[in-house]
Amino acid sequence: MNKFEYAPAPESRSVVKIQKDYDLFIGGKFVSANSNKRFTTINPATEEILSKVSLANGKDVDRAVKAARTALNKTWAKTKPKERAKYLYRIARILQERAREFAVLESLDNGKPIRESRDVDIPLAAAHFFYHAGWADKLEYAGFGDRPRPHGVVGQIIPWNFPLLMLSWKIAPALATGNTVVLKPAETTPLTALLFAEVCQQAELPDGVVNIITGDGSTGAALVNHKDIDKVAFTGSTEVGKLIACSIAERGIPATLELGGKGANIVFDDAPIDEAVEGIVNGIFFNQGHVCCAGSRLLLQENIADEFLIRLKDRMTKIRVGDPLDKNTDLGAINSSAQLAKIKEISDSGDKEGATLWSAPCSLPAKGFWYPPTIFTGVTQAHRIAREEIFGPVLSILTFRTPREAIEKANNTPYGLSAGIWTEKGSKILWAAQQLKAGVIWANTFNKFDPASPFGGYKESGWGREGGRHGLGAYLKIGKGAK
Ligand code: NAP
Ligand code: MG
Repeated sequence: MNKFEYAPAPESRSVVKIQKDYDLFIGGKFVSANSNKRFTTINPATEEILSKVSLANGKDVDRAVKAARTALNKTWAKTKPKERAKYLYRIARILQERAREFAVLESLDNGKPIRESRDVDIPLAAAHFFYHAGWADKLEYAGFGDRPRPHGVVGQIIPWNFPLLMLSWKIAPALATGNTVVLKPAETTPLTALLFAEVCQQAELPDGVVNIITGDGSTGAALVNHKDIDKVAFTGSTEVGKLIACSIAERGIPATLELGGKGANIVFDDAPIDEAVEGIVNGIFFNQGHVCCAGSRLLLQENIADEFLIRLKDRMTKIRVGDPLDKNTDLGAINSSAQLAKIKEISDSGDKEGATLWSAPCSLPAKGFWYPPTIFTGVTQAHRIAREEIFGPVLSILTFRTPREAIEKANNTPYGLSAGIWTEKGSKILWAAQQLKAGVIWANTFNKFDPASPFGGYKESGWGREGGRHGLGAYLKIGKGAK
């Protein structure tokens, strides 16, 4: 019998219209940047230039902050909470209506498989707006005291791994609570944020409530350091998070920081192995491992390690790597050449330090940025691949003998964002979850997200929570009687 093969099933890109160049979205209009500079954004799967976007400088940031302040004072502060909710509902519905367009654009600009942008990123982004629309007129009953008030103008900075989804995590709660925003998307993935600006126009959101300024790290720094920002919300690396923490400490304004991670996925010997293998694969290879809460360290109980590894490798040989727009693709392109270089450098260190590398056999496209699904065995806690965030499709595997040893190893990290527990015993799940120092703990599943569920980390993984009631609180000045 012939080997079963998948025929190509490419999603059409005709649904998106990418402009040759883009201006900044300030005060409800697209306006040219004061800097007069543009930079390119490419499709990392082909290296094709998709568009040129504006590079906002300090003066542009200032214009955007002023537009947000004017909108706050003149319209948004006077808009009744139930009216605010209507705008959020409207945005959510438009995102659903234009979901295919957003999914294709996200996959083109980011390199992630269409299966994920279509089934995870875009539906969850819409869900965030629906969820927060429901809160807008109920804030007084949410345990935040008598009269919870918005902070004012919020500066928001997001990374490239879930561009539209991170935008929705930021903008939906800010608007629901009555703030206005200036948001800077990441340099390599600005296009869905710019399409979202069109959605704001389509929804007739009052001018200046949402401002989107594209740029690089210097634009982000100018936004964070702007004197008229009332709060900062940042998702990105721990390194930049620390710079932001220093900057806002001087001014005493609040911030939420969602930073890096080195999540441990613990598989006990009583776990259902096939389900655990599936969960481990999802935990590290979802979104090419460009996931802050990825299960990037696998802790295997020693007596099942050999059998587990055989099944894991077998499963990994079935991961289809290639064209992100193909509906059969599991693993897409690495987001940038810089990120690919970082993944290679840390993986090389694993080799040099004595761990054993194994990559699933697969043929990688000649153009673009690619890395095969990879595991390291023989990893010790001292190895860099066990300590540092790789942010790519690379799993470091360690073993343990007793549950206590598993917990000690899992917690032996400067991060504390996520963890996973695989066992058939409910009592072991509860025991382990109490010991693990991680903001999000999944049991017999992994990488499940919901707007109602707070998300965030301990230690160097950040400050505060996003999502749920906890996330709303971060956008409010909380008064008397708060619980
Ligand atoms: P990054 O370099 O920190 O960049 C994040 C954002 O900050 C980008 O928009 C970036 O702009 C901007 N930026 C860079 N330098 C800045 C500065 N000095 N001041 C203000 N903003 C600045 O991180 P990344 O490499 O894009 O993203 C990967 C990291 O994000 C990983 O560590 C990952 O774990 C973390 N992450 C965390 C979460 C979470 O929820 N905890 C979620 C997703 C990702 P440019 O793009 O133009 O450089
Ligand atoms: Mg791009």
